[in-house]
Amino acid sequence: MPASDWQADGLCKEYPDVDFFPERVKDAQPAREVCDRCLVQKECKAFALADAATRGVWGGFSFPEERDAARETQ
Ligand code: SF4
Repeated sequence: MPASDWQADGLCKEYPDVDFFPERVKDAQPAREVCDRCLVQKECKAFALADAATRGVWGGFSFPEERDAARETQ
């Protein structure tokens, strides 16, 4: 599925006040909670893992801090 297809279904666009690029990992919980209810979480996480430059919360994971842990579950 091309990235643009799943991104159009991302729940994050309905939460403009939630910070998906927090300075600290501990502040990522609000974004994670949105991701946990998102129908394209799996596609989003795979997309983020494929790019070494990913920063922020994607698919419920905070990058780059949780990149290694996310890869172990692929
Ligand atoms: S998983 Fe999270 S960051 Fe990815 S599209 Fe869904 S809400 Fe947005």
